Amino acid sequence: MKQHDILIIGDGIVGLALAHALAKEDIDIAILSNSDLFARPKKQVLHSKRLDSGRETSAKNIQEYDQRVSAITLASEHLFKQLGVWEDISFRRVSPFRDMQVWDATGSGQIHFDSAWIGQTHLGHIIENSVMLAALQENLLSYSNVTYYPLRELTELMRPAEGVIVKTQQETIFTKLLIGADGANSWVRQQAGFMLKQQSYDQTAIIATVQTEHDHKETAWQRFMPTGPLAFLPLNHANQSSIVWSCEPMLAAEIMAYDDETFCQELGKALDFKLGQVLSSSVRQSFPLVMRHAERYIMENIALVGDAAHTIHPLAGQGLNLGLADVACLVKALQKNLSLNRPLGYMSFLRQYERERRIHNLLMIKAMNMFKHLFSNEHALLVSLRNNGLNGVDSLSWLKIFFMQQAAGIGA
Ligand SMILES: Cc1cc2nc3c(=O)[nH]c(=O)nc-3n(C[C@H](O)[C@H](O)[C@H](O)COP(=O)(O)OP(=O)(O)OC[C@H]3O[C@@H](n4cnc5c(N)ncnc54)[C@H](O)[C@@H]3O)c2cc1C
Repeated sequence: MKQHDILIIGDGIVGLALAHALAKEDIDIAILSNSDLFARPKKQVLHSKRLDSGRETSAKNIQEYDQRVSAITLASEHLFKQLGVWEDISFRRVSPFRDMQVWDATGSGQIHFDSAWIGQTHLGHIIENSVMLAALQENLLSYSNVTYYPLRELTELMRPAEGVIVKTQQETIFTKLLIGADGANSWVRQQAGFMLKQQSYDQTAIIATVQTEHDHKETAWQRFMPTGPLAFLPLNHANQSSIVWSCEPMLAAEIMAYDDETFCQELGKALDFKLGQVLSSSVRQSFPLVMRHAERYIMENIALVGDAAHTIHPLAGQGLNLGLADVACLVKALQKNLSLNRPLGYMSFLRQYERERRIHNLLMIKAMNMFKHLFSNEHALLVSLRNNGLNGVDSLSWLKIFFMQQAAGIGA
């Protein structure tokens, strides 16, 4: 039987970031996945190692981008810096955004956020998911205490005293601590019997990379329509953005069926032509949106992180950022166990992890539910309330600063 101090199931951004943070400790770590990081198709920019500093990283055309991108907060940037991977991420390709413009399609409500208000040069970065994965993967190779089991199908989970045993078709592995970083449909969560609260948002998100007539001015644009929010996230070429268009599933199916020309026309219109016409688009992908929240994040010798523990509407671009905050918090708990010579699965500090992260993630889930319901309602009173609310917050600088600090992950 193989043995590892910690076994992380899942090699997404959260699982790899966790492996990085733990690899710096004097422990033996393994990552097990049903996919293979090293066999994923890579675009040119992902192969690049650090070369000369003046390298051109702008995409020449929209097809060069990975369509899966994430808005990464200042707090997540800080974590990547601590892990020593930020340089490799930012060298490949990142797109800072310095401003946010949010407005209501029904009425006059609008709000503007400027990074200068919180004394920062930027509010965050838009980063292709494959860029973060490539940088994490490349750096992980430098650790000799990390083993990688790719392309595994998990078949069984057993819980003897002092650890967990998992079986795959190839091997049996004993670990002192099993971590489920295996995404929204987590096998670990289901096999270990964690209870889950789950509810469909009754919306589907459509994503694509688009070319626009006007410069995005390093601004994230978001329009709330009764059918759902539409976001244009600025990429590092001034006329290219990544879009997330969330709407009811029937409408999403119609939009997915549009030919390219109709899609571009409707998309430009849906953003009120703030960036002029949409000139071209990459292929589209769609994702049904579901809120999930595990009732516990830990049990004896097992912990959940990232989407395995919670999934949230992408309207505020927080899902991955919450997962990275889980990583920072769980690592602190495990470091305490190590420094006090306690077993890795010692529950007292793990409970602190669960308490701290669960309440934070729950508040974010509740805030997203509130936003979603508030903005998808056309009742006159609610329309007036939210328009006055937006304009009110926009005119109160202290409240605006508070919201911006929370969104950037640097609030108290
Ligand atoms: C449209 C959209 C837009 C978004 N935009 C943002 C944004 O702007 N900002 C943001 O912060 N978040 C955003 N998110 C959320 C973000 O994408 C996720 O929260 C994040 O990718 C989750 O990362 P993860 O590593 O926890 O899970 P995943 O990325 O799902 O990784 C899970 C890993 O586990 C592996 N795995 C799964 N099952 C098994 C198994 N049975 N055995 C072994 N391995 C397994 C998979 O191969 C995968 O590698 C968005 C989400 C959507 C849908």
